[in-house]
Parts: sequence; C-alpha cells; structure tokens
Amino acid sequence: MIFRPLFAAATLWLAGCQAMPVNTDPTDAPEWRLAIHGGAGVITRGSMTPEQEAMFQAGLQEALEAGAEVLRNGGSALDAVQAAVIPMENNSIFNAGKGAVFTAAGTHELDASIMDGRDRNAGAVAGVTIVKNPILAARAVMDQSEHVMFAGPGADAFAEAHGLEIVPNTYFDTDRRREALERVLETMSRTAADKHGTVGAVAIDAEGNVAAATTTGGMTAKTAGRVGDSPLIGAATYAENGVCAVSATGHGEYFIRIGVAKSICDRVKLAGETIGEAATVTLDEVAELGGDGGVVLIDGEGNVDFVFNSEGMYRGWIDANGSWTAIYGDETE
Ligand code: ASP
Repeated sequence: MIFRPLFAAATLWLAGCQAMPVNTDPTDAPEWRLAIHGGAGVITRGSMTPEQEAMFQAGLQEALEAGAEVLRNGGSALDAVQAAVIPMENNSIFNAGKGAVFTAAGTHELDASIMDGRDRNAGAVAGVTIVKNPILAARAVMDQSEHVMFAGPGADAFAEAHGLEIVPNTYFDTDRRREALERVLETMSRTAADKHGTVGAVAIDAEGNVAAATTTGGMTAKTAGRVGDSPLIGAATYAENGVCAVSATGHGEYFIRIGVAKSICDRVKLAGETIGEAATVTLDEVAELGGDGGVVLIDGEGNVDFVFNSEGMYRGWIDANGSWTAIYGDETE
C-alpha cells in the first residue's frame, strides 16, 4: 500500500499565485518551488524522541532555505537542488556526506547524481570515498566532462583534479552509523532504524525549468563496491522540462530494477498521469518485488507530491509563500 500524505500541490500552487500580488501582472515571473526528502523508512513516532524530531525538522528547514535562496534570487532549478542537498550532506543526521553509513568493510562509499530538465544533461559519481560533497562531484562531471558518470578511484581523482574539497574517509564517520554497522553485522539483517537514508531535491525555477539531485551513503553494511540507485539517472534521479523531476530514496536494488524515476516521468509524459498517480503505480511495482522507499516529485507546472510505501519519509517543500516539513506517514498539510 502506498501512503500518500501529499498536500494538494496543485491547489497550493494556484493558491500561491493568487496570494502573491506580484502575480496579478501576467508579465511577472512565474512562481518557483523546491521540495526535498531526507530518506524514507520505518520512521514512526515511537522511534523518535522530541529532540530527534526537532533535529530533523531543523535539518530539513536548513536545506529548504538554502535551495530557496537560489530560486528567490532568480537562480536556476539546477543550482537550487544542488544548494539544497549540500547542507544535508554536511549534516551528520542524514545518510549523505558526513554521517554516511558504513560499508561492511567499515569505510564509506558515496553515490550522487544530478540532472537538468532543460537539456537532460546529467552527472553522477559512484563509490567516491574522499570527496566532501559528492553532489559537487556529480555536478563537475556534468559541467566539466563529456561523460555522465564516474566511479571509484577515477571519480575521486576527477573530483580532486577539479578542485573539490577532499577529506579523509574517516571524516564521514559518526558513532551512530558505526553502531548501526555493528548491529547489522551482528544480526546479519538491517533493522528498521538502519534502513532509511539518502537525501534529494527537486525544483522548478522562475523560468519553468526543473531539476533533480540525489546523494547518499547507500545502505548500512553494503559490500564494498556495491552501487545503489542513487547515482543512476533514471533510477533515483530524473528531470525533464514540462514533464517532471524525481528524486528517490529506498532499497536501491529494487529502484534500479524498476527504473523508478524514468518510469514515473514516462508515465506522466506518455500516459498523461499526474506525478502522484505515476509514482503510486511505479512504487506499487517496487513493493511487488519486495522493495520499499519513496520519491519526491515536481511536475512541469510546479505541482509537488511525495509518495512513499514506507512508514515515514523526511520531507518538505518551500516556495515564495511558505514552507512545510514532515516526518511521519500520517502528516498532511
Ligand atoms: N537508495 C539508497 C541505496 O540503495 C539507500 C536509501 O535511499 O535509503 O543506496
């Protein structure tokens, strides 16, 4: 079953326009909007303290503000999604950048991808180990190489050669993730708390361009060399102007097999479904195979939706009229 604690995005979008006096003039720039996720999983009220809740809410809000700042100043959706995920990569509560989960070997291997809906240009890195902000490495691949994806030592070397900040692999360590690794190795199974991770963003800018970004440490105790869906264009990340932008989080193996992000956008484009309908059908397929997770979505008109088949998903949106964040499955606007 899919929980769809979505806000009435379409309504909100229109309401937003009505509430904005500047939009009464048809020559005014259209609205902008950004939506994020900070991972999906078994996130229940019983499993979180009020302090943890507050920490996640603040982390989401910081990310929203960073992306909004770009859009407010007329920046691109592409720059906005990048700006939104960087604070989450730097915030150790999220499974991306600092605070990334450990591999079974006790190290960190990070994956990231970014896509521009204007021309469907994209960049990605898989298995980077020393790049402080993997999303910047993905962006550098997109902007400064003729390729779409670099992996492993070559990806690290590419990032270093392009002047990105390099850190020792231990920079990503946190006690919380080490305990999770020990738990998983002991029981040989991922508990609820160890499952969720990954951060991502989608946005539409004042020119109507969309973009998506996804960045992660992957799954706790993953075998060295394992690559999930997060760096794969079409699996976790996709953006096409006039259609939709998607960023996914969940059990990557299933998201790869379904090609989640591209499937959703194709359903919107070819079958005329709404982003919510397309995501629900696609995540049903993921669930049929045994996978769980969620997506954050924006369509070509700026409607936002969140669809997930897990108990909760850290998530939020922001536009010129306000912002909203949520954690649990039953939270609607
Ligand atoms: N999708 C990520 C992966 O499989 C993990 C997650 O989103 O929780 O690597």
